[in-house]
Amino acid sequence: MPTTDSARAADAADVSLAANETGAAYGASGRPVDLRSDTVTRPSDAMRRAMAEAEVGDDVFGDDPTVNALQERIAGLLGFEDALFVSSGTQSNLCALLTHCGRGDEYIAGQMAHLYRWEGGGAAVLGGIQPQPLPHRADGTLDPQDIAAAVKPDDPHFARTRLLCLENTIGGRAVSPDYLKTATGLARDHGLATHLDGARLFNAAVASGDDPYAQARLIAGHFDSVSVCFSKGLGAPVGSALVGSREFVNGARRWRKVLGGGMRQAGVLAAAALHALDHHVARLADDHAHAALFADGLKDLEGLIIEPSGTNMVFATSAPGIDTDDLSDRLARRGLLCAGYPGQLRFVFHLDVTRADTERAVRIVRETLAETATR
Ligand SMILES: *Cc1c(COP(=O)(O)O)cnc(C)c1O
Repeated sequence: MPTTDSARAADAADVSLAANETGAAYGASGRPVDLRSDTVTRPSDAMRRAMAEAEVGDDVFGDDPTVNALQERIAGLLGFEDALFVSSGTQSNLCALLTHCGRGDEYIAGQMAHLYRWEGGGAAVLGGIQPQPLPHRADGTLDPQDIAAAVKPDDPHFARTRLLCLENTIGGRAVSPDYLKTATGLARDHGLATHLDGARLFNAAVASGDDPYAQARLIAGHFDSVSVCFSKGLGAPVGSALVGSREFVNGARRWRKVLGGGMRQAGVLAAAALHALDHHVARLADDHAHAALFADGLKDLEGLIIEPSGTNMVFATSAPGIDTDDLSDRLARRGLLCAGYPGQLRFVFHLDVTRADTERAVRIVRETLAETATR
């Protein structure tokens, strides 16, 4: 299995950001294990070299050879005509929503879908586009019957339902190919376009165990447009891509400019994304293995119910009487950072987390809970 553990060890001393954020002390090792998100990775030396050496031009004029190479690469890889390099996953999803839908149109998405819940309501704010959120089933998917029932009739009382948006992975779970086929087929039967928020598409692809590039293409092939993040598990500092037909991407490029997302010598950023596509896809399996190891190390704990997701995330639901805010503060003081939600903690594994970090994280959780039990 490919690994970058040794490469990451070189960065081990540089932890000022996380340490400042929590104001915590981290004991002898000095470095917290940062499992708040897979966005916290820092570019490796090799990635920085690729960025420094990138050929650049003005991308708003279409002149940046590295941006053009990235757009061709990701479009080809996922089986689409064209792609657009954008500054963030949020901007990518927003460009997609604004291109698929107009004022008074509606999109269907899950209640917990990032593009509905965690993106500031951008499509409503900037596009007059109404969301139609639906509840998730336990596996993160939307019930096809709910989707069908949410499509509005052609009647002036209603917004025009135009688009179905799915997410994969969702809550760290890879969605089955059969489901994607059924849900997108149903959407098409109702005249809807389909968009995939594939911020972690490559985690889903790697989780299948087959050739990740071929799997990513299969997953993406169900949709009219797909957004992929380079700045999550793939470890680039900045950037996402939105893929679709040439006509769709031309529309999205207009919106990107309107949103202030036209970047100039963006090749330095695209070079990091190209490096990530070459070197950081197969190694996502390491993150999934570390997440499984972490979950396995905690499965017998009394105070927490551990739910592995099958990819790079582990969720821990607390038993009654354990305050997760207090618990995450105490974990941070011992050198383990995680994301806290009411009643739940999330641990995300990524490029900058080694196997030794994973074992340390297990020890810290166990010690902290033991302290809870004896207080
Ligand atoms: C992080 C994320 C985004 C947004 O990406 P940003 O680059 O943070 O704007 C979109 N969708 C999902 C599922 C994400 O996890």
